[in-house]
Parts: sequence; C-alpha cells; structure tokens
Amino acid sequence: PFITFEGGEGAGKSTQLARLAARLEAAGVPHLLTKEPGGTAAGDQIRATLLDPALDIDPLAEFLLYSASRAQLVREVLQPALERGELVVCDRYADSTLAYQGYGRGLPLPFLQAVTAEATGGLTPALTVLLDLDPAVGLARVAQRGQADRLERADLDFHRRLRAGFLALAEQQPQRWLVLDAGRSADELEEAIWARVQVTLDT
Ligand code: C5P
Repeated sequence: PFITFEGGEGAGKSTQLARLAARLEAAGVPHLLTKEPGGTAAGDQIRATLLDPALDIDPLAEFLLYSASRAQLVREVLQPALERGELVVCDRYADSTLAYQGYGRGLPLPFLQAVTAEATGGLTPALTVLLDLDPAVGLARVAQRGQADRLERADLDFHRRLRAGFLALAEQQPQRWLVLDAGRSADELEEAIWARVQVTLDT
C-alpha cells in the first residue's frame, strides 16, 4: 500500500513520519520512506532549485518542476517498491501540488489534475494523513525553531488558502483521508496514525 502525509508549515509532519517509521521498523513491516520534492538523484536537483530562495520561480514553472520530480519518483522509486510488496510512505505528494499551486497560487485545478494524472501514472495513495493546523500556530512554531529561511513565503493569507485547500480535498474523498487536529499531542497523533495505518496494512 501507498500512504502519504500532507499538511502546512509547522504541522509536525516530520515528527510523525519519524515516529511512524520507528513503529514500522519495530513491527518488522518492509517499508520505504521517501519525500517530495526529491527522492531521486534528478528529483533532489529539482528540489534544490525549487527551494532556492534566491530564485523567483513563476507558479506555472514551479508546478511543472514539482510534476517532473514526481514523475521521476513514481517511476524510479514508488512503483518498484510497491511491486516488491513494500509499504511506501511519502512525505507530500500530489495533494500538496493541488493545495500549494492550486488553492495557494491560483493555477486552475483541472489543468493541475490532468498533468498530475500523467505524472503519477494514476498512482493514488490508499491513505493520506492530513495534519491540520491553524497556520498562525504553525508559522509561529516554525519561527520559534528559527527556520527563518522557511518564513520568506509566510504570507498568512496564502497559508489559510492552503489549509482550506487540503480540507476541501479531504472532503471530496473522505475514505482516503485521515484528518487530524495537529494541535493534539505528538503521542496522541502517533497513536491515531498507527491505528489507521494498521487498518490500511490489513486491507
Ligand atoms: O515538506 P516540507 O515542508 O519540507 O516542504 C518543503 C516546502 O516546499 C514547503 O514548505 C512548501 O513551501 C513547498 N512546497 C510547495 N508546493 C508543493 C510542495 C511543497 O510550494 N507542491
């Protein structure tokens, strides 16, 4: 099965991904943990370009770079791992594009969905965990960590559109999404995620 994690800035994705990896390790579940953008040699170079604060990348170009990174990741890493029978967990995936470049930057969703369907070859997660958080809280968490580089794009309205976008996507496919209040404790979130992942592994 294929599982993805989504969420805005400071929602705690990295913490929960690390905890899930530890659980999978302890349970002896063969798995592959990867991330977007990146996860391949070509994708990592695309990631460096995308996250370079010195570059002013047009939203359409940005979308196509994310799609290029994803097309490579699906074919080089995700499909082969799934064919080997591993559980694949990806930190961000196509839903991030719909949220960031669609709801956030305003590119038309049908266009994004059409290109994304080609880039992914139709590979869709069995489960998507959304760590949902008020962006004012998430951005404050990031600021506290001193990750100032990540705050360059910290326009609150943009992050509000993102959050609304993720929630709208989740509402369209409630069976695929596990929406969690990321304001809960890390331990509680870990338990809720593990319970649902086990269900996904059993089906
Ligand atoms: O997952 P992580 O928070 O490290 O993502 C890195 C950054 O990439 C995000 O903070 C976001 O600004 C950006 N991003 C984006 N569009 C996507 C995925 C990520 O702008 N589709």
